[in-house]
Amino acid sequence: METELTGRIVTPGDPGYEEARTNLNLFHAKYPDIIVFCQNEQDVINALTYAREREIPFRIRGGRHSYLNLSSIDQGMVIDLSDINHVKVEGDMAEVGPGADLERVYKKLWKHRLALPAGTEFSVGVTGLTTGGGIGYLSRVFGLTCDLLKSVRIVLADGKTGAKAVAADRKNHPGLFWAIRGGGAANFGIITSLKFKVKPIGEVSIFTVDWDFDHFEDVYQTWQTWAPFTDEKLTSSIELKTKKQDTLTAEGQYIGPKEELIKLIQPLIKQTDPRSVKVAEVPFNRAFKYFNYPAGNEPAYFKRSGSFVHQLIPPRGIAIMKKFLENSPNDDNVIWQQALAGAVQEKSPSETAFFHRKALIAQEYNSTWKHEHLARRNVIWVEALRKQMAPYTQGDYVNWPDLSIHDWPTSYYGDNFERLREVKTEVDPYNVFHFPQSIPPL
Ligand SMILES: Cc1cc2nc3c(=O)[nH]c(=O)nc-3n(C[C@H](O)[C@H](O)[C@H](O)COP(=O)(O)OP(=O)(O)OC[C@H]3O[C@@H](n4cnc5c(N)ncnc54)[C@H](O)[C@@H]3O)c2cc1C
Repeated sequence: METELTGRIVTPGDPGYEEARTNLNLFHAKYPDIIVFCQNEQDVINALTYAREREIPFRIRGGRHSYLNLSSIDQGMVIDLSDINHVKVEGDMAEVGPGADLERVYKKLWKHRLALPAGTEFSVGVTGLTTGGGIGYLSRVFGLTCDLLKSVRIVLADGKTGAKAVAADRKNHPGLFWAIRGGGAANFGIITSLKFKVKPIGEVSIFTVDWDFDHFEDVYQTWQTWAPFTDEKLTSSIELKTKKQDTLTAEGQYIGPKEELIKLIQPLIKQTDPRSVKVAEVPFNRAFKYFNYPAGNEPAYFKRSGSFVHQLIPPRGIAIMKKFLENSPNDDNVIWQQALAGAVQEKSPSETAFFHRKALIAQEYNSTWKHEHLARRNVIWVEALRKQMAPYTQGDYVNWPDLSIHDWPTSYYGDNFERLREVKTEVDPYNVFHFPQSIPPL
């Protein structure tokens, strides 16, 4: 007898279908035939078995933030985890449902004065973020989100048509546990629970500095020679907006008092003529709300890509960034960078599947537009920028996937790709979990 679907099921024609099918990126809109909102692990096992028995193509979804909407599919089935979103704290460990978003994680942990190093936008899903790596304003002090992951439960394909749940940690399925810390879990199975070691937190100090676009070269050069090398308790980013927007903004978070942060940012502001400098000491919950931009949580048309910076960008590369921001097809396009190093570098590139440990900076090329017909010129802008910056950058973050990257295995996974393929062969020899740029079995 064939398996039946369990959970909350939404299909085309249902009143909630439009909301249920829409992901954050409107550019890659998808129209699945079935969306199953799983309520527990058994629903996930049933959904995967149902899809396999009937040979229905499927995707796994959490926070809906995949740049390419790899978490949805036309005609097939979406296995959605967002209703399983609990956060349970016990001592310095937190058990998190796979569908929790960062807002829920941060707020629940804050009640215990605890934190997980993770991203900034509230609506990003914890599973997608963690299993690709997880970069944010606590990275330099506590590491990537995946570095705090201690175990998962994950539903794997079993035999020709079945599914089974297993625990993965350092002792059980160690290869799989290695792979899902930077290799992207969707390549291997469906995560149904994550356990993190979390960190005590209280007051933090935050800063924002703005400059006019005219100071581009000076500001960028000063930031890149400072941000990856300053005190590890300080993580900062820089947002380079278009010439029309006329604003370059550095922000960051320091685990320590305001007076110390003021001293630490002196090299950044002393000779760069900022338009404004704001520094504040606040409880951590005010800091994570400050760094969440509501617009980033709303569905929009966008194309994003990225790369890592291992050696400081020379004047020629800085000139390219400036030229693209002066000639952008869209005032809202930005280049965004975040300093890494610090605790991110404490692990070697092979210790987890996140390969880009040695990078100084993670860099994004972001374009957002308001109407469908504006896609082409904005996509070209991102792809041309990425190409021209290639001599000064390396690879890309798997959480910023881009189909125009043809050498994606090396770009996302570097020397870890072969080992990822071995794990894939072990846990998913029939390649049940496949999608554009997914890891193939050997
Ligand atoms: C506005 C915005 C802000 C961002 N900010 C940051 C940031 O600060 N730091 C950072 O590191 N990244 C950031 N990202 C990138 C983000 O980490 C990735 O987009 C991530 O994949 C999103 O996960 P999701 O669950 O929200 O998305 P989804 O689209 O639901 O899923 C993303 C991928 O994860 C897979 N997946 C989801 N749930 C599961 C599961 N339970 N089991 C197995 N596979 C699963 C999906 O199949 C898909 O391949 C941001 C993205 C956006 C759009």
